[in-house]
Amino acid sequence: MMLAPVIESGNKAIKLILGPCSAESPRQLEDTIVSLGELQPDLIRAGVWKPRTRPGHFQGMGEPALEWMTLLKQKYGIKFCTEVANSAHVEACLKHGVDVLWIGARTTVNPFYVQEIADALKGTKIPVMVKNPINPDIFLWMGALERLEKVGIKRLAAIHRGFSFYGNSIFRNVPRWQIALELKRQLPELQMLVDVSHISGSSRHLLEIAQIALDLNYSGIMAEIHPHPSEALSDADQQVTADFFKQNVWDRLIQRGPDITARGDLDAIISLRAKIDNIDQSLMKLVAERMKIAEQIGIIKKESAISILQANRWEEILTSLLATGKELGLSDEFVSSLIEAIHIESIQHQSKKMNQSED
Ligand code: PEP
Ligand code: MN
Repeated sequence: MMLAPVIESGNKAIKLILGPCSAESPRQLEDTIVSLGELQPDLIRAGVWKPRTRPGHFQGMGEPALEWMTLLKQKYGIKFCTEVANSAHVEACLKHGVDVLWIGARTTVNPFYVQEIADALKGTKIPVMVKNPINPDIFLWMGALERLEKVGIKRLAAIHRGFSFYGNSIFRNVPRWQIALELKRQLPELQMLVDVSHISGSSRHLLEIAQIALDLNYSGIMAEIHPHPSEALSDADQQVTADFFKQNVWDRLIQRGPDITARGDLDAIISLRAKIDNIDQSLMKLVAERMKIAEQIGIIKKESAISILQANRWEEILTSLLATGKELGLSDEFVSSLIEAIHIESIQHQSKKMNQSED
């Protein structure tokens, strides 16, 4: 794919897309823009049609909000982006001169809708950003970009907004950085942005997520900014004021260059990386050894007709490893996902042994 960036110029090395989750009123939108002041975002974001997981929540102001945007664009010389989920949305946005569109996480999962959007965009040159699907499926993300590229949209970007999960996490949507990095590896010219608000789900992790993204060479940040976050009609928990964003995120970000040979102590990095590679190799060998032992247990269980999953045993393992992890400075989230992955692999090894025919 021959792609061009969505955000082309700008005076900052880190591209910025800021604005409310939803456009709620002309006043709220204008207050947000004024409050952004010297942050000077490349694009203002505001949702007009809101995909709400459950009914009864604020669904967005619809087309009238696009008219507010048109007026504010003239007044402040800014550019707007908004989410589209079907062809009617696309047509309304094109009619009102919205600068950039994005496809939301709940739409990227559905090839019918993505194709409908792509078809409605045929013949236009409007830039489009594609959020990752809510499920961790790189092909849906890639497929959406391909459908758009095929109709002639070349200015494309990906927005990494994290993935749904069941269980506990400190994040609203778990990042799973490796999926975004793999997409970028396969499409090196794709502009990759991070939506810190939808990953974080609160004001607490915005800086941490933004810094990781910059250290992974992302091009920019999307964040939800509201003049009065607690009064927001959608996503109140994760929106912050422009001042908060400036003081607690923007001003604290550390910019490091992607070119490792240009700075830093290259020799030291190479030797530390060699240590990491050794540790990774040992980890793999240890895990494989654990599987072999699980298989031996499988043979015994088979002979004595005992089922694989012993709930108490699993509880014991988890509790003890969480405690050890804590002592060693590893997060509960990491320890439980690591041991769960190992446990599932063990079950598969045991199951294979137990169900192997004798002959
Ligand atoms: C949003 O940006 O407000 C939104 C609904 O995002 P997502 O599609 O990532 O949930
Ligand atoms: Mn939102």
